[in-house]
Amino acid sequence: MLRKFKEMAKGKLKEHILNHRRRQNSVHFSDTTLRDGEQMPGAALTIDGKVAIAKALAELGIDSLDAGFPIAAESEIQAMRRIVREVKGPVITGLCRMRKADIDAAYEALEEASIFKRGVSLFIATSPIHREHKLRKSKNEIIDIICEHIQYAREKFEIVAFGAEDASRTELSYLVEVYTNAIDAGATSVGYPDTLGIMTPEKVRYTLDYLRDNVHNNEKALHAVHFHNDYGLGTANALAAITSGVDVVQGTINGLGERAGNTAIEEVVMAIVMNESQYKKKVFVDTTKLVPTSRLVAELTGIPVTKNKPVVGETIFQTAAGIHQDGLMKHPETYLPFMPEKVGGEEIEIIMGKHSGQAAFDARLRKLGFELDKEELAQLISQVVDAPKAAWEDPDKLLLETVAAIRS
Ligand code: MN
Repeated sequence: MLRKFKEMAKGKLKEHILNHRRRQNSVHFSDTTLRDGEQMPGAALTIDGKVAIAKALAELGIDSLDAGFPIAAESEIQAMRRIVREVKGPVITGLCRMRKADIDAAYEALEEASIFKRGVSLFIATSPIHREHKLRKSKNEIIDIICEHIQYAREKFEIVAFGAEDASRTELSYLVEVYTNAIDAGATSVGYPDTLGIMTPEKVRYTLDYLRDNVHNNEKALHAVHFHNDYGLGTANALAAITSGVDVVQGTINGLGERAGNTAIEEVVMAIVMNESQYKKKVFVDTTKLVPTSRLVAELTGIPVTKNKPVVGETIFQTAAGIHQDGLMKHPETYLPFMPEKVGGEEIEIIMGKHSGQAAFDARLRKLGFELDKEELAQLISQVVDAPKAAWEDPDKLLLETVAAIRS
């Protein structure tokens, strides 16, 4: 009797989770900075580092954390156990191959979490090249393995995500079969990983629309995507997937990850938030924490952020160009798509240099305590534009010396 009740409750629970998510009409984010991100050469994290990043991701409003690969090392299990204890909010999942030992290791890492907050992310490759050369298994054998392991995982986990590795090189007709079977076996979400980052936005739309129309039970699971940035299309592909109705976008902070990295979560978040009327989707991410989170990840992984990185780069609110400087001083929105405070960045900075314009020079000199008349200002500009690069390293000194020379 009790067992039957539990079974019923379990089924209802899954339905409840799915309905709740759909009602929100939002894009959910799954972060894999701690797993795919850490796979980037040189990006090893300590356990303390992983916990600190997981806390920051929870405060940012990320829905689930792909927190590690439990079977790979005891330290992975230790890190995940600490994340479960110390980080409240997101669902914590562990990556598993289609092996019972992997699922058992994930359970060991996550057993202290509530059933709503723990999950496994099961994957197996489905593309012909992986089937023939890596797995040496037939299409049907792979489907049997998928069903067996999803059912096994469902005994211990309510949240069971399934991902078809190298989905973007898998025959569409076979993917339909794979997802249909995975959902029937009890997967709560089915994922489309573009493992090699070979997709384009047009192909993403075509493929995901095809899958939605042909996987007959697709309403019974959430749909997730995972893109890589090999052609710089990680963000564009994620947005294309959202327009196809995908529920969950997986990515990393700063776009860390294998090879050219993963979809950068901060970019997708801002693209949706700033184009709300187009996407008509809610995002429960606190955008003002994007820059601080990016900085923390850069510091702890030791992988610096490119200066002009979209959304979080150091120089995106600086300008050295005269026309932009003049505009920004008159009204900041003349030359910025969003204000620094929207992403938790620093103030707008006018960088003095030979491309600066009259307005910027005038403003800077006033700050330094000098009011120049038109003639003096023109004279000063004509002198400083030809100053050597080294002199521009300390622009205030250069300006003060030039003023002194003009007025002597
Ligand atoms: Mn990946």
